[in-house]
Amino acid sequence: MKKITVLVGLLVWQTSLQAQSSNITIDLNEGLRQLEVRHCFVRAPAALQVQYTLRRHIRFITWEDHDDTRNLAVSGNSLRLPEGHSGCLAYVVDHVERNVRGHQKAINKQHPETRILDIDRLLLRTIEVPGQMPIIEIRHPSAVKLSAPWQLLQRSALNTRYRMKPTPTYSRGFLAIGKLSLRTVYLGSSRLRLAVMSTNPMAPERLEQWVRTMAGTVALTGGSFPLPDIQVLIIDMPGSSEPVPWGQVNRAGGQGVLFVVNTEFGDDQLYADWTAAHEFSHLLTPYTPNDRWLSEGFASYHQNITRLRSGLLDERTAWKKLLAGFRRGQKAAEKTDASVLKHAGRRHSMQMYWGGAVIALKAEVALQQATGGRMNLTLALRGLQECCLNTGQSWSAAAMFTELDRISGTQVFSTLYEEEVKRQRFPEFTSLLEQLGVVQTRWGSLRFEEQAPLAHIRKRIASG
Ligand SMILES: [Zn+2]
Repeated sequence: MKKITVLVGLLVWQTSLQAQSSNITIDLNEGLRQLEVRHCFVRAPAALQVQYTLRRHIRFITWEDHDDTRNLAVSGNSLRLPEGHSGCLAYVVDHVERNVRGHQKAINKQHPETRILDIDRLLLRTIEVPGQMPIIEIRHPSAVKLSAPWQLLQRSALNTRYRMKPTPTYSRGFLAIGKLSLRTVYLGSSRLRLAVMSTNPMAPERLEQWVRTMAGTVALTGGSFPLPDIQVLIIDMPGSSEPVPWGQVNRAGGQGVLFVVNTEFGDDQLYADWTAAHEFSHLLTPYTPNDRWLSEGFASYHQNITRLRSGLLDERTAWKKLLAGFRRGQKAAEKTDASVLKHAGRRHSMQMYWGGAVIALKAEVALQQATGGRMNLTLALRGLQECCLNTGQSWSAAAMFTELDRISGTQVFSTLYEEEVKRQRFPEFTSLLEQLGVVQTRWGSLRFEEQAPLAHIRKRIASG
C-alpha cells in the first residue's frame, strides 16, 4: 500500500514538472490554412497522444534540442519523445476543417474570412495537471481575432495568450479565428467572452444584449452564473429558417457555448426561442457524457424554469411547455427499445430529454418536502459550483447524484436514481402535476388548483 503511494507521488511530481515547464506557440499564416505549432518542454514526457482526427493533418514533425534537430514520426496513436530531455517539438497542422454540425458548408460560404477549428485537431494531447496547465501563445495577422475556450491571459493586435484548461473525455471545443467582433459580458463575477461572426454591423450589439438576458436567466436560477469564465461563439447565418437553428455546449479546453443564429428575425422571435435558455442551463450541471438523460433532462426542465423566473414566460405557459414535453417523452418512450431511462441515448431523444426533465421536477418537489422548503433544486445545484462544475472532468450520473445528496443533506437524488432512472422506462408525472395543482381542462387549456396539496411548492418553483 505504501509502495503504491510513493509511486503515485513520484508520478504526480514528474508530470507536474513536465506540465509546469511546457509552453506552446502557434503561428497562423495569412490564409489561416496552416498552423505552425512549437511545443517546448524542460523535461519531455515519454510520449504524447495523437488524436485520430489529428493524424491526417499533422506534418513536418521535428524535435529540436541543444544537440540537434531530428524528424519524428507518429506511430499508432502516439508520438514518442526523448523522455526527460529539454527541447521543443515542432509540427505543422494543415487543412483543418470546420465542424459545426450540418452547417459547415453554409458557414464557409457566408463567412469566408473566418475559420472554426476543432481544438482536438490542432494539438497533440499533453499531460493535464489542473492548476499547472501550459500557456499557449498564438501569433496572428493584425486583422485576425481569436476566440477560444481556454483562459484568456492577454490580447494584443498580433498576439493572443491563453492558459489551457483541462479537457474531459469525449468532449469537443472550438477555436474561431478571423473576422470576429469581440465583446465581454459580465454577470456578477462571471465573464462571458463573446465572439460574433456577422456581416451585419448591428448584430454584435444586439446579440450582446441577447446573451446578457438569456445567460442572466440561468444566473437567476443558480443564484449566480454557474461558471467564472466561458467562451460564447455566435455565428450569424441570414437565410436560416429559424432565429436560432443550432446551439451546443462544448467542454474541451474549458466551457463554451456555440450558437448559430439568424439576426434577420426580430427581437420578439429571437427572445422567444428556447435554445439559448437550454444551452446555458446545461452549465448548471457538470459534463455527464454517458448519462445524457441527466444533462439533457435538467437542461430541458430549466429552459422553462429559467425563463419563468426571469419573466420571459408566464407561469401558465411555462407549465404548458413542461407538460407538453413530458407527454411527448412518454409517447416516445412507449415506442422505444430503451427499457429504462438510464439507457435512453441519442436514438431515444424525446424519452431522454423529457424523462430526465421529470426527474428534475421530482427532485425539486422531493427536496422541498424533505426539508420543509429549506432546500430546493436551485440551492443544491448552486452547491455544485464549489466542488464539481469547473474541474474539467467527466462525471457519471451516480457520482453527481451522490454529490447532490451530500450538498442537500438528503437522499433524494440517490433514491430517484435507484427507483426511477434505473427502473422506469419513463417516470410517472400525472399524479405529481395534480398534487402541484397543474390541471389540464377538457378543452386543453391549463388552470391552477390553489387548494392542491403541493400548490405552495409550485408557487415557490416560480419565484425561485
Ligand atoms: Zn441539450
